[in-house]
Amino acid sequence: MNPDFSEQRHQLVSFLRRYGVYNDAVLAAMERVPRDFFVEDAFLPYAYSNQALPLQLGQTISQPLMVGVMTQALYLEGHERVLEVGTGSGYQAAILSQLCAQVYSIERYAPLSEEAARRFKTLRIQNIALHVGDGTLGWPEHAPFDRIIVTAAAPHVPTRLASQLVPGGLMVVPVGEQLKQTLTIVKRTKDVEDGLQVQSLGDCIFVPLIGDDGW
Ligand code: SAH
Repeated sequence: MNPDFSEQRHQLVSFLRRYGVYNDAVLAAMERVPRDFFVEDAFLPYAYSNQALPLQLGQTISQPLMVGVMTQALYLEGHERVLEVGTGSGYQAAILSQLCAQVYSIERYAPLSEEAARRFKTLRIQNIALHVGDGTLGWPEHAPFDRIIVTAAAPHVPTRLASQLVPGGLMVVPVGEQLKQTLTIVKRTKDVEDGLQVQSLGDCIFVPLIGDDGW
């Protein structure tokens, strides 16, 4: 059992509101999901500071502000099916699970995926399907998706993933170099076959997306 972090969680949510997360449903989800369940024990004291923290295998749980901004950029209404590439700790997926109908999340490292599955079970979260493999290939059996979120840095807009979006669907993905990227919103247009509109949301830093359509 972890200590009661509800006060720290509340403080973090107030911070997120001041720094650009304005969507009340996203803030409520971040107030509800205990980030302390998703960090390694050694980092428990920092679970509610606005920091990315180390996971096993050289990976990281994203900074809470980045989770808030990326989730908000998906404009979820509750009925969506969302693909996440990069399960990591499972924290981002748990936030999404509160805001959409079904999450599909792919991770390349089995131990991370297994740990995330245990966390979802403890928290009784039942609308997340997990898969171990190369997420740059998407998850064709469950495509198309209303939304896609990539939580690792891609060298270019991953068009293979974009092709698994519904027309009008949105993808949020960090695109750029290995050490610095631009948070990018990709919209699959309704009218043009395979047309993509691309918009930038600012700088970000993620671990690399390793795979067929990644690094
Ligand atoms: N969303 C996570 C952040 C994890 S960091 C969280 O909330 O904790 C990014 C993750 O992407 C890492 O776990 C890394 O192993 C994974 N990753 C990198 N390339 C991948 C790929 N091609 N397919 C699936 N996962 C990948």
